[in-house]
Amino acid sequence: MNVPHIPGAPHFAYRGTHLYIEDVRLSDLARVHGTPLYVYSKASMQSALAAYQRGFAGRNVQICYAMKASSSLGVLQVFAQAGCGFDIVSGGELQRVLAVGAAADKVIFSGVGKTRAEMRDALEAGIGCFNVESEGELEVLSEVALALGMRAPVSIRVNPNVDPKTHPYISTGLKGNKFGVAHERTLQTYQRAANLPGLRVVGIDCHIGSQITEEEPYLDAMDRVLDLVDAIEAAGVPIQHIDFGGGLGIDYNEDTPPEADALWSRLLMRLDARGYGDRHLMIEPGRSLVGNAGVCLTEVLYLKPGEHKNFCIVDAAMNDLPRPAMYQAFHQIVPLERRGGETISFDVVGPVCESGDWIGRDRALHVHAGDLLAVMSAGAYCMSMASNYNTRGRAAEVLVDGNQAHLIRRRETAADQMRGESLVN
Ligand SMILES: *Cc1c(COP(=O)(O)O)cnc(C)c1O
Repeated sequence: MNVPHIPGAPHFAYRGTHLYIEDVRLSDLARVHGTPLYVYSKASMQSALAAYQRGFAGRNVQICYAMKASSSLGVLQVFAQAGCGFDIVSGGELQRVLAVGAAADKVIFSGVGKTRAEMRDALEAGIGCFNVESEGELEVLSEVALALGMRAPVSIRVNPNVDPKTHPYISTGLKGNKFGVAHERTLQTYQRAANLPGLRVVGIDCHIGSQITEEEPYLDAMDRVLDLVDAIEAAGVPIQHIDFGGGLGIDYNEDTPPEADALWSRLLMRLDARGYGDRHLMIEPGRSLVGNAGVCLTEVLYLKPGEHKNFCIVDAAMNDLPRPAMYQAFHQIVPLERRGGETISFDVVGPVCESGDWIGRDRALHVHAGDLLAVMSAGAYCMSMASNYNTRGRAAEVLVDGNQAHLIRRRETAADQMRGESLVN
């Protein structure tokens, strides 16, 4: 029998011929809730977080979950209950963290294009820090804070100009990227920030990219950031916290990123060697906390054999799973019920009217119409990027905890989608 690679083990595994998530059979969830369906393992999220916590044992660190990776309330709750802070990138994300009762002072606000309204809401909520990405943003934030009679806590995101060796669309710490303040301008920018009356400098941050599977880019970025801390503090601006961003990769296709605890024990050795080991540290992991914790279940609608290619047409599409279309990303696709027999090579595609609507290419599958498949490693940047293209309702979401399955988002209806629209009369 064909034994596919199952990323996300041990929380995903075949028992006999059926694929389980924790103690729940995935095909049972598909039957109850329909497809496409997102299903997440709570234990998988908790164990991913625990790996970071082990790596940081005894240190003064705040882990801020970068919630754009997966932002449904039921997922945020898992991290809020575990004591995490949150890294947000919009006013909408702020509303979500407040809705789950997260501590506002553990929220940090990243992103290159914060509006005045978003700044005001975040100041009024009492967030812990604004990660500022340009000199223009510093000026505006200072004005907005002064108008409220406040001083905004700021960290400046620096662009360390290191190559994270990942896909160009998810690399953010190179010179040509829109993110952060150029390395050469950092000191000047800190001096400007320290002189603005509406700001209080509290930290420094960087974030070099995503799906990073090697250790050196982190070590290089760390060295460059610490060089800057040396220079900034020598110029008389104290830095309270140092935030190293997120970016650690996951296993999509037998990828072997370092484990979070192993990575951080090495990074902490470097920090100790440079005398920064007892600083207040922060990190902003997203994908590595949730990516391998989720799958998207889909039903095979039709098999369409062709002269050059065979198509396996499923009921999930690029609006549910945008990563293949956006970044040519790879997700394992495995059957919920394994059976023996010959496999055939298929392109797995969705119903959306775009040639870019594919989920996997050249996959060896033994399938019939009506079979159920799991698109693996779909816990990060899938549902949170889902759209309504083709007026397709967004999928339902289930959070599994042991043998319990909780519906955390019902399937979106056409009426949900049309709410807020009006006819012209
Ligand atoms: C997206 C993002 C993260 C999280 O990145 P992952 O690769 O998901 O860990 C962290 N910080 C910032 C500023 C981001 O934009």
